[in-house]
Amino acid sequence: MKYLGVIGHPQIQSLSPIFQQAALDYLRLDIIYEAWPTPEDGLATRLRGTRSTSVLGANVTIPHKQAVIPLLDGLDETSRNVGAVNTIINREGRLHGCNTDVIGFLRALREDGAFDPTRKRVVIAGAGGAARAAVVGLVEAGAGSVSVINRTYARATRLIEEILPLAENTKLDAFPEMYASWGAALGSCDLLVNCTSLGSTGSGREKEVPVPVDLIRSTMLVYDVIYRPAETPLMKAARKRGAEVLGGLPMLVYQGAASLEMWTGQPAPVDVMFEAANRALKGKP
Ligand code: NDP
Repeated sequence: MKYLGVIGHPQIQSLSPIFQQAALDYLRLDIIYEAWPTPEDGLATRLRGTRSTSVLGANVTIPHKQAVIPLLDGLDETSRNVGAVNTIINREGRLHGCNTDVIGFLRALREDGAFDPTRKRVVIAGAGGAARAAVVGLVEAGAGSVSVINRTYARATRLIEEILPLAENTKLDAFPEMYASWGAALGSCDLLVNCTSLGSTGSGREKEVPVPVDLIRSTMLVYDVIYRPAETPLMKAARKRGAEVLGGLPMLVYQGAASLEMWTGQPAPVDVMFEAANRALKGKP
């Protein structure tokens, strides 16, 4: 028997053990995927355990995606670019860090949003870990421009400065969070992505929308990376304004599918993973 797990804290809500185990069972692999709740001061001990021969690797979630980096033996290019790791592979006791959030973000956008980001104008709300993955993905995909708007302006400018060297074909800029910024950025945008936690279950701000609703236009795709609830207040408001919407569940499932393929070398059964995740979100056993 081999083991995988998701390392996070407090991790009450992770869907990964549910849809990953469904996929492993479908593939008839003798692998158990567990939740590994880990406080900050237990992270080094947890990673020592991950080097065991019985452990294939792990996912990493809030709040450890950056903190794990110095504890690993190597990083792939994407995780280096994003500055965060969400997948660890145990290669004979050496831990290799990867980032599949970028793959998940782009695959969901293309397959479920039917949106090709090449040369498109994009606005991102937020500048945390999800926003970093989104900006790296959009730069890789050759978006025309990406504007980041965040409550903490310094975080948005830092994100842009760090990713700028990668952006050969994409114009990047940061704006402070105020109505005039939204007005300027959204006026000509094709895709709006919410990477803040506003509107998510358990955030304490479940009813809030991160952008001025009156500026949403029917010609935009509005992509909210939040997956709980399945339809956020932003998605509801955007739909009312006539815009197409995309939620965060496809990104979550596709990042997990890419991780599973790295650990097992087998194609991930994404339909099985979606079904398990949807059942869990609806509270079904
Ligand atoms: P971070 O904590 O790294 O970033 C949170 C972001 O939200 C920051 O930009 C922060 O702004 C902003 N924010 C928080 N509270 C407020 C507020 N009251 N007003 C305005 N802005 C606010 O989180 P992540 O980037 O990791 O995650 C963000 C969301 O994306 C979460 O809901 C998470 O569940 C989801 N997510 C979904 C994934 C998927 O696969 N679908 C993958 C990863 C994340 P500031 O910088 O000013 O604090």
